[in-house]
Amino acid sequence: MANTAHKLVIIGSGPAGWTAAIYAARAQLDPVVYVGVPKQNPGPVLPGGQLMLTTDVENYPGFPEGVTGPEMMDMFQKQAERFGTKVIGRDIAEVRFNHDPHTPHELVTDKGDVIHAHAVIISTGATANWLGLENELRLAQSGGGVSACAVCDGAMPQFRGKPLAVVGGGDTAMEEATYLTKFASMVHVIHRRDELRASKVMQERFLSKPNATVEWNKVVVDVLGEKTIEAVELEDTVTGERSKLEVAGMFVAIGHTPATGFIKESGLEFEDDGYLSLKSRSSATNIAGVFAAGDVADAKYRQAVTAAGMGCQAALDAEQWLGEHDLN
Ligand code: NAP
Repeated sequence: MANTAHKLVIIGSGPAGWTAAIYAARAQLDPVVYVGVPKQNPGPVLPGGQLMLTTDVENYPGFPEGVTGPEMMDMFQKQAERFGTKVIGRDIAEVRFNHDPHTPHELVTDKGDVIHAHAVIISTGATANWLGLENELRLAQSGGGVSACAVCDGAMPQFRGKPLAVVGGGDTAMEEATYLTKFASMVHVIHRRDELRASKVMQERFLSKPNATVEWNKVVVDVLGEKTIEAVELEDTVTGERSKLEVAGMFVAIGHTPATGFIKESGLEFEDDGYLSLKSRSSATNIAGVFAAGDVADAKYRQAVTAAGMGCQAALDAEQWLGEHDLN
């Protein structure tokens, strides 16, 4: 069985997965990338990851004029393929990891095909949580001013000088809302309780801005607007009263969920918040030959450029590990 096993399989096709593939292919590890299949969860989940839902990427070095997320992922893929990366358009649905380095890991696709790999890099990312409202998801998909990432999308001209909404009361909501105060006429944080979950320092950073306000005890029950968002309909969680708030953008910041469903029972270790646990200063997991990169193992930075850096680390770690076990 060992001689039919791949040296390296990479699961996931965002910046982390493609960067790992570029490095691994150049190191002649003949990587195979399982890019995943499109799905709704409840928002769109696409091969290429969260960047496929981002319009302009202006903070990735090397693109002085910016680049769209889908274009960027296409370039990453082409660069990986140029060095011989094999690309498979399927999900890995189940894994059976082995602790003996000379017994390959087994990966099962969503079609039931079983493949073997000596080393595996998990780079399946995380998906933004959405409220799950029909008009929210429609306008998020069409670029109509609804987004789950203010740092990615907030600087666009359509939001400048306009009132904007941020949904959520955690650190991410505060960070995104504070960022948006640079552009917006007013940033309304919409929070379902009368107390924020965010740390005091992050709350104060936001609340100290002249154009910052919180809509307490409110939930968004609908997003109004045909081509672009025009307003949100709110419901008071105490009185049940409905109201309308005119905004030119809505940023949903109610947490992320790492894409780890298929590895929950694999023996891999997770952090308390559900993200994959890595050995200090390494991409290695607790299982020999299994590495992780990108948002699936990073609750904190979650940027394309940090994910790409982690992908590079994972490929170098996998290469070294395969070499140490004469599997390269
Ligand atoms: P979080 O701490 O889980 O906060 C999520 C927020 O969204 C909560 O306020 C929650 O309300 C609200 N929420 C959840 N589901 C909702 C729904 N369906 N409708 C309306 N509101 C909903 O997530 P996070 O802010 O993304 O932070 C994740 C982790 O990253 C945290 O540990 C955080 O400290 C860390 N982080 C740190 C920094 C930093 O230090 N610079 C920046 C960002 C994130 P409730 O409060 O009512 O539950």
